Amino acid sequence: MDFLELLRSNQPFLLLIAGLLGLLVGSFLNVVIYRLPVIMQRDWEKQAREVLELVQDGDTRPFNLLWPPSCCPHCSTAIRAWQNIPVISWLLLRGRCASCKERISMRYPLVELAAGLVAVLVAWQFGYSGQGAAMLVLTWGLLALSLIDADHQLLPDVLVLPLLWLGLLLNSFELFVSLPDAVYGAAFGYLSLWSVFWLFKLITGKEGMGYGDFKLLAMLGAWGGWQVLPLTILLSSVVGAVLGVIVLRLQRQGLAQPLPFGPYLAIAGWIAIIWGEQITRSYLQFAGF
Ligand SMILES: [Zn+2]
Repeated sequence: MDFLELLRSNQPFLLLIAGLLGLLVGSFLNVVIYRLPVIMQRDWEKQAREVLELVQDGDTRPFNLLWPPSCCPHCSTAIRAWQNIPVISWLLLRGRCASCKERISMRYPLVELAAGLVAVLVAWQFGYSGQGAAMLVLTWGLLALSLIDADHQLLPDVLVLPLLWLGLLLNSFELFVSLPDAVYGAAFGYLSLWSVFWLFKLITGKEGMGYGDFKLLAMLGAWGGWQVLPLTILLSSVVGAVLGVIVLRLQRQGLAQPLPFGPYLAIAGWIAIIWGEQITRSYLQFAGF
């Protein structure tokens, strides 16, 4: 039996491969989450210097997702191949750098584990299918976006927009919903938060969210169609309110500190795209319709 046939016919094997692939992708997502904002920051600084006609500063060494190779942020020792195995290396090294013994953040293995777990969930839900493969791409993209937004209050266009186009392209083959539903999803997703933003700003004079949030909801609408928008907004407000209160309590910060909305939208949209119909149906039954 060849590999693909085994994936198709044996569910435990499919889940195992999806999980392992998720761990490896998670390792790469760590690089994206850390480096992409740095790359963008460098780019903005360069552009600002050009506009202001200032001298460019000396550091012209390449810095991208593949170069330079990963190294310890503390002592700059290069990370060897055996030290780069998802989760396992971190455990073997007991969370410390092999040369300088400085602590390595637990977040790295946690992101790898999360990428593996969501991949198993997607494979379990969609099986060996085009939908499953597409959902894996969306899921890992949302994971990276959530963490970048949590760190920097930033939802990079270079991730959001390609995923938006991909959702529309896939639905031109009706992979998840019809193309018109996907187009309405993208447009209304953008417009709904855009309207809330301006209404809020006109009334209070404050900005409650950013343009990245509008684009993110447009992207989720492009994948799941306009049908996922109400549930996504509802769920993200609930998740945001609950987690927001917890975070505020933990950090003892005032409400002046803006909370990123992207992670809540991403989690809510992901749930709505995968389980939206089931959730709505059970709710309607529960409510007695
Ligand atoms: Zn080190």
